[in-house]
Amino acid sequence: MKTLSRRAWLLYIPAVAFLAGLCILFYTFYTNADNWSMRKANRHLYTSGTLIAAGNITDETGAILAKTADGKRQYNESRSIRTATLHVVGDAQGFIATGVQTSYKDELTGYTFANGIYDIKKYGKGNDLQLAVNAELCAEAYKALGNNKGTVGVMNYRTGQLVCVTSKPAYDIQNRPSQDIANDKTGEYEGVYLNRFFSGVYTPGSTFKVITSASAIDNIADIDTQKLKCTGAHTIDGGSVKCLGKHGTLGFERALNVSCNSFFAQVALQLGTEKLTATTDALGFNQNFTVGKIRLAKSTFDLSAASKLDLGWAGIGQYTTLVNPCHMLMIVGAIANGGTSVQPYLVKSITNQTGKTVLEAKTEAGLQMFSASTAKKLQELLRSNVENYYGDSKFRKLEMCGKTGTAEVSTDEGGDKPHAWFVGFSQRKDLPYAIVVVVENGGGGSSVAIPVANKTMQKVAELYGK
Ligand SMILES: [Zn+2]
Repeated sequence: MKTLSRRAWLLYIPAVAFLAGLCILFYTFYTNADNWSMRKANRHLYTSGTLIAAGNITDETGAILAKTADGKRQYNESRSIRTATLHVVGDAQGFIATGVQTSYKDELTGYTFANGIYDIKKYGKGNDLQLAVNAELCAEAYKALGNNKGTVGVMNYRTGQLVCVTSKPAYDIQNRPSQDIANDKTGEYEGVYLNRFFSGVYTPGSTFKVITSASAIDNIADIDTQKLKCTGAHTIDGGSVKCLGKHGTLGFERALNVSCNSFFAQVALQLGTEKLTATTDALGFNQNFTVGKIRLAKSTFDLSAASKLDLGWAGIGQYTTLVNPCHMLMIVGAIANGGTSVQPYLVKSITNQTGKTVLEAKTEAGLQMFSASTAKKLQELLRSNVENYYGDSKFRKLEMCGKTGTAEVSTDEGGDKPHAWFVGFSQRKDLPYAIVVVVENGGGGSSVAIPVANKTMQKVAELYGK
């Protein structure tokens, strides 16, 4: 008996080994199939390491941004459009990770796990991708950034369509600079493969006062009637939060208009770490967001080790807080949209080789960031900033609402001049568009970021206004 069962057991060993082998094989195939057939040696997809068998990429109007012709990847005829859309289109080598030529490579080539590259061989090309952006608008925004590095994003805050996404520095993809731009020492091409809109994070500076204001509206009952003092600085536990002005005694609306640091440091202290953190949690700080297949850099807010003085600085956006520009656009978009954010989208549609639409972007609600009443109050405050402080003449006929920021940066964040921000939106019924502008080391928010925002929004009005 004993001998028999031992023999039976011996028979099991090869059977178990065989099954285990099958599992490993299937697992390896499942996890690597994509890499095996998409690898650069596959000549159906790549020539000399460059993606060729991909479909067309067009903008929202159908203008060609990239296509395959004569076995080569070709781009828009206009140099300024090629440069301004570099980061959304991406390069054919895959250096720009968030570009659709990389992030939507499977869709563009028509590769699927089940069929492999069968369809590509059959039709000779992949699927076509229509982007949400308007190429001319991207070019205008890119030009408006002038000689500065930075980013501009514009979104329809009712639908989520990202009509403008541009990031600088960039280069003309058709005439790639001959020097080694990845290791460029001059600083001209610093972070050139990074789409700053999706992958950048910045100190928010005074744009964060919009968030402190939201928390104040929700948590401080008499915020509208409080009068607080600004003597040019607010002292907390022996340290002080400096203000750029000596604003005297002022109320909430005026304090946001003139961006008084003393006022908002005091508001942050009244709120305390718990309430301010709860507000940032509701807005999606420390959370991962995606735009289609593109992952956003995470905005971070953390007061766990903050002193009272730190809390004061956090209230004016000058603590360890970092904000991603696309996330900031979702936040101002939510204010404009009555409190609920919409999910931004970059890919408008995907059409397969037989002309069938296989994906169509639709409007999806995102986080309920603010209550309707808080959103309405914030709309009024941001409108007051433009009307009573920056001046409507800076945004002719746009009925803009917004807030500037001049974010002081530490030397390890790069440069000594502050980053200039503008976040805002138009209240015109025919122009439901929100905008974010970051000009790296640009200096003052109102002197540098407002003109960029205005030039971009004027183009938005020209394109979509009625
Ligand atoms: Zn002040």
